[in-house]
Amino acid sequence: MTGRTHDLAAFTALTYVIVTQPIGDMSLGTALVAFTANMIGGLAPDIDQSTSSLWRRIRGGTILGKLISPLIGGHRLLSHSIIGVIMAGFILEVLLNVAGSVLIVDHEVVWWAFMIGFVSHLIMDSFTREGVPWLFPIPISFGIPPLSFLRMKTGGLVEKSFVFPALLFINGYLIYMNYNTFLDFIKNHIK
Ligand SMILES: [Zn+2]
Repeated sequence: MTGRTHDLAAFTALTYVIVTQPIGDMSLGTALVAFTANMIGGLAPDIDQSTSSLWRRIRGGTILGKLISPLIGGHRLLSHSIIGVIMAGFILEVLLNVAGSVLIVDHEVVWWAFMIGFVSHLIMDSFTREGVPWLFPIPISFGIPPLSFLRMKTGGLVEKSFVFPALLFINGYLIYMNYNTFLDFIKNHIK
């Protein structure tokens, strides 16, 4: 999956949670940081690939990526697994606690927004040929559908002409069907 598709998938997952889950009030600052965290979370599993969007969006990122990605063990391993999800959640918790003294935002909201993005990435990658080693270190990759030749190629025609528009459609559909909930969230829950 390309970075663009991951961004949109993360946002779609976030929209789904906003319209289906009871969400308390939050500050505008929290909402904005959570939105950014969701996008970073949607790209974060590709920390293991120096050519990924995550690194390309940071100045000097490709060099940094080349240094850091080998430490994580190569593309689509640790960071694309359940253990990776748990580790990311733990590291984020520590980072948010450290940042807590300067960043006045609701940690829990930011944490969830990031994790929703992170998990959405692994689900989306499951639709590609390579699959996802969900149970790493068990060396088996899982995908949807299970037969890899039925799955799509990253950045290929199916992703561009079907998956991306479908995600746009799902987003629009979720907001349209839950318009009042969505409006209520923006108007009354962001202070
Ligand atoms: Zn990935």
